[in-house]
Amino acid sequence: MIDAETRRIFMMDESVQIERNIRIVDKSFVFTDEQGKAVSKKMKIDEKLIEHVIKELVGEEAIPIIFYLRGKKQISEFIIAEELDMEIHMTRNLLYRLLEFNIVSFLRKKDRIKGWYICYWDFNEHMVPYLSEKLRLAKIARLKDRLEKESSNMHYICKGACTRMTFEKSMEFNFKCPECGEIMQEQDNTRTKEFLAEQIKMLEGNE
Ligand SMILES: [Zn+2]
Repeated sequence: MIDAETRRIFMMDESVQIERNIRIVDKSFVFTDEQGKAVSKKMKIDEKLIEHVIKELVGEEAIPIIFYLRGKKQISEFIIAEELDMEIHMTRNLLYRLLEFNIVSFLRKKDRIKGWYICYWDFNEHMVPYLSEKLRLAKIARLKDRLEKESSNMHYICKGACTRMTFEKSMEFNFKCPECGEIMQEQDNTRTKEFLAEQIKMLEGNE
């Protein structure tokens, strides 16, 4: 699952610049420019893509619900729980977490016999390509942020690797490790920066 900071970026409305539009055609999609002209080949909304989005945004445990709902319409949460042999509270909890990203939606109907309300759920398959694209952009934004921080700060690290901190922070401790008292050394973060740059390149090339 994505870390808290990536999630924060993802959830902000204006956080990421969406560069491509998406057009859904049946169970497939294409990226288009602003005029609606296709700029990519047609891609399928396949199991792999669905799994990726669910795993990153909600967690692996929600995947069975999605594959159960796929191709069905308005399924009661009691049926979902029963069919997947899951506790009703757990089922609801996962459904609400999926709802947060509009991966699912529901209709609330009153049960005429029992007199209470039951939620009937649908999987919004057409949301998957949008979420996947936004996820990619949020990850890039997060990695660029980290690279920025690595590039603009010197880091100090304890020999015993108990602590790692910025130059300013380590000055407050007189360059002594607050955990063990050892003198901290400047850390060469070339490898970290290279790693982050590689990750960004990989995600940016992910068409
Ligand atoms: Zn230490």
